[in-house]
Amino acid sequence: MKSLKRFVKQVIYYSGVLLMWRSSLRNGRPLIVYFHEIFEPRNDDVSWCGTRSLLMPVDLFRKILSHLSLHYRIVDLEEAVRSGSSKVAAVTFDDGYRGVYRNAFPILNEMRIPATVFLTTGYLGSSNLLWWDVLAWQLEKLMNVPRGHRVKMGQAVSGTWRSLFTENPRTDAMIESYKWASTTEREELSAILKDLVGVPPSAGERIYLSGAEISEMQTANISFGAHSRTHPIMTWLDPKQLTDELLDSMAAVKMLTGADKCWFSYPDGMFTERELRAVQAAGYIGAVQTFRRPEVTNQFAVPRIVLNVRSTSGGSGRFSRAATTVTLAGMNGTRLRSLLHSLGTLSPTSKP
Ligand SMILES: [Zn+2]
Repeated sequence: MKSLKRFVKQVIYYSGVLLMWRSSLRNGRPLIVYFHEIFEPRNDDVSWCGTRSLLMPVDLFRKILSHLSLHYRIVDLEEAVRSGSSKVAAVTFDDGYRGVYRNAFPILNEMRIPATVFLTTGYLGSSNLLWWDVLAWQLEKLMNVPRGHRVKMGQAVSGTWRSLFTENPRTDAMIESYKWASTTEREELSAILKDLVGVPPSAGERIYLSGAEISEMQTANISFGAHSRTHPIMTWLDPKQLTDELLDSMAAVKMLTGADKCWFSYPDGMFTERELRAVQAAGYIGAVQTFRRPEVTNQFAVPRIVLNVRSTSGGSGRFSRAATTVTLAGMNGTRLRSLLHSLGTLSPTSKP
């Protein structure tokens, strides 16, 4: 299936279909991309990272930027949004990982590319793991608990989580389920995992950017926005928690950068009308999302395209112009599958 997908991406790339998709999906809008952590595989210990899709090797990052520079005029986020031009691009990073300073910043500087970094302000300068890395660590440990004991423990949990205790679940699938679970269900799982396997230690070294690094980057065309204080999914929060996350993180960014206003990035790109209105009411300039709801295109839900190893290398780990171009046209797995169906390449029952 993977090689079929790769083949179809090549066909899409070398045919005119891509142009059609690009105009229908991005609809003439500027291209806004986002990354997470950029690491140097020979030097950086990223064993703390339980979600490997967030990691991008610095060599691949450099190749992607070269590709973007060749095909787009790269400007800062605000200018890109204002331009309304599909020939313009902006580069952003979510979470505020230290590798953005250590590995991405020298390349951005060298290539004179501006960027915006969205900070999880409660974790600045910290080596503590965010909730999904905690869950990934706990899940790995859970799999080491003897199966008999695990299954017995599983009998005490609600149906939502029982399969975690009886099967070998995929980490990313479990994290996705956690995002959509109710508060009671999330609290239940967190409590039982803590009880069973404990909580992970902090990483061996600092994971997130420090104030000094932020100041240095600011002098070289890097701007900063807020990505909440603790990176909850915003739809989890009650009204007070929602306001606190928005105002606290905005205040921290303002204090660090001296700016009087900044942009917001929805954690995991998840928002509804309620969160959109809350971001607007909090006084942000605007907000970026992921590509979950590309049909919502106002200043408080600017769509972005994620660039990771899979979406830019077609699975090989080496930069692929075809895979990257298809990704930049706004075609993710779901859209690619629907295109495959419409071309008759897949039967409707085929699994991705
Ligand atoms: Zn994030």
